[in-house]
Amino acid sequence: MFGKILIANRGEIACRIARTAQRMGVATVMVYSDADAAALHVRGAPQAIRLGASPAAASYLDGAKVIAAALASGAQAVHPGYGFLSENADFAQACAAAGLTFIGPSVDAIRMMGSKSAAKKLMASHAVPLVPGYYGEDQNPALLAAAAVDMGFPVLIKASAGGGGRGMRVVRAAAEFAPALASAQRESLSAFADARVLLEKYIERPRHIEVQIFGDQHGNLVHLFERDCSLQRRHQKVIEEAPALNLTPAQRATLYAAATAAGRAVNYVGAGTVEFVVAPDGAIYFIEMNTRLQVEHPVTEAITGLDLVEWQLRVAAGEPLPLAQSAIGQRGHAIEVRVYAEDPAQDFRPSVGQIVHARLPAASAQVRVETGVASGDSVSPWYDAMVAKLIVQAENRPSALRLMAHTLRETELAGVNSNLVYLRRIIEHPDYAAGDFTTHFAEEQKAQLLPTPGAPPNRVLLLAVAAVLRGRDQAAMTASPWALADSFRLNHTRCERLSFRHGEALINLTLHQHRSGPRVGLPDSSQVELRAVPAPDGRFQLDIGAQQIHARVVQRGELLEIFDAGERWVLGLIDPLQRTDEDEIATGSLLAPMPGAITAVLVAVGDVVRRGQPLLVLEAMKIEHTITAPCDGTVSELYFLQGQQVTQEGAELVRVAPAIPPPAAAV
Ligand code: ADP
Repeated sequence: MFGKILIANRGEIACRIARTAQRMGVATVMVYSDADAAALHVRGAPQAIRLGASPAAASYLDGAKVIAAALASGAQAVHPGYGFLSENADFAQACAAAGLTFIGPSVDAIRMMGSKSAAKKLMASHAVPLVPGYYGEDQNPALLAAAAVDMGFPVLIKASAGGGGRGMRVVRAAAEFAPALASAQRESLSAFADARVLLEKYIERPRHIEVQIFGDQHGNLVHLFERDCSLQRRHQKVIEEAPALNLTPAQRATLYAAATAAGRAVNYVGAGTVEFVVAPDGAIYFIEMNTRLQVEHPVTEAITGLDLVEWQLRVAAGEPLPLAQSAIGQRGHAIEVRVYAEDPAQDFRPSVGQIVHARLPAASAQVRVETGVASGDSVSPWYDAMVAKLIVQAENRPSALRLMAHTLRETELAGVNSNLVYLRRIIEHPDYAAGDFTTHFAEEQKAQLLPTPGAPPNRVLLLAVAAVLRGRDQAAMTASPWALADSFRLNHTRCERLSFRHGEALINLTLHQHRSGPRVGLPDSSQVELRAVPAPDGRFQLDIGAQQIHARVVQRGELLEIFDAGERWVLGLIDPLQRTDEDEIATGSLLAPMPGAITAVLVAVGDVVRRGQPLLVLEAMKIEHTITAPCDGTVSELYFLQGQQVTQEGAELVRVAPAIPPPAAAV
């Protein structure tokens, strides 16, 4: 076994690999980019080496730097994780040349399977069922168009070097073919530096089933059953489970036989995944093989009780597979969800910025949490926005679904948007629960999974008011008594108006101070007593009538994120007193309060503006922030255009040169 390995990855998978290695007594070395200098995978590491600047090409994708780091650290082997260099045959070869063991299959196997076309030709000669298609080298557009017509529409154009659903286009009629081909080639060239495509018959409403295989250097090869990864969005997996539903014993036998045949065809060593689509008529077709550990490997670990990273290390070190096929069993049902920092309401745009609060579920024998972030960490624009995976395991699928819904309700992320609520809606969807879903589910059920947000219920508004009052109390404790000069505190008989923004809507509430305590006038004209006390876990205990609720409010400036009953509400407090920051007035520079998108630029350089005049509108977490002139003056710099993303909190947006005050009159 190796004494030390280098983990050439980041985030949850780097942490996960290190855990197994350390359990086996194998020392680990992490690598990082500038953006990740303080990331979770680095913070806890006994040894970490800087690779370079933040772009992946300058760090995690730079094989020469990774190899130099491994040699400098005295590591004997490199674990590539998934993504980045994991399926890069040249990197695997360079590792070998440098005397390092690449923890993965042989260079030849990676090369062979790296091209979808080459893999298909190989599979065809080994009796693995293929989707009908064109896998040829000749990329003449006229020939491709003719092949598509021969196959019959719909046809799927795929990037030969593809991955992650990129470079893929569904074509439903001959007239659409040429533009779809051009756009698939463009995308493929920019993503994979390779414009070659293949064509496949597009199978309508299929399921995606894949088989985990494992081989060793002694000619042994086994399968570890299948995973169902049909729950996808734009051809990318969102939820995975094992075992797959609704497969007949004959279908299972076909899948396992085809997968192991695929592995044997390339003398496969290490962990690999053979992917298939299953058509509605039950026909099974090979689509590709991934020559690495998959994101979704934990569901296989859950049902088999095995540690696939341990197997990878043993096999790479030359040991035989720990178990024979007959000794590998499966039990119960496991489900994994991928938690992304993204905004489902904005077409799943990645949501960058600081995670100001992260509450992840407690791990147990049935709940596994794989994360690469903690409270206070940032989601950077440089890499994939997956921040965690939640995996549950139970004796059967209904129990696993119940547990996953509960686990998702227990998970909170504030400061960035996430797909947590979206995931829970899928898990709780009756068709998903009934096992009635295909790869088209997310698209077909969009309306139910992405409901237009309604008005926040009264309990959420009460929580918002409670948080505002808590904020004032905290300010009063730390600031001077003069900070208390608000109508609410000074005059107990007066009523105060509190306004919040929720998306486009404005919500006006009234706050009345009675002898018995505060009362809130709600939009439905009712008035209720506010009975909210901070609970020891940082949440609020809110009493409404006989009902007691526990919910969290995370407040950052004027932005309130309320986590209640598995839903997240974002409200913006409208401060009636315009803030004037002395520093800002002095320099006239205006900074982004948080990352977001510039939705409007209301002035041009050279414009003369008055203090308080709106200059820009920044939208973050569905709330618009209007950036106003801190003083009278002239707009001297504009750093962003309409539609641009501001990725850094505190980035300078616009600068106003203060007007020179007229000379004071002589006295
Ligand atoms: P990538 O490598 O980009 O992930 P894959 O070939 O693995 O691409 O396909 C990704 C997904 O696209 C599959 O999981 C499946 O949902 C869908 N898909 C692929 N091939 C077909 C096909 N021939 N017909 C229908 N859907 C397909």
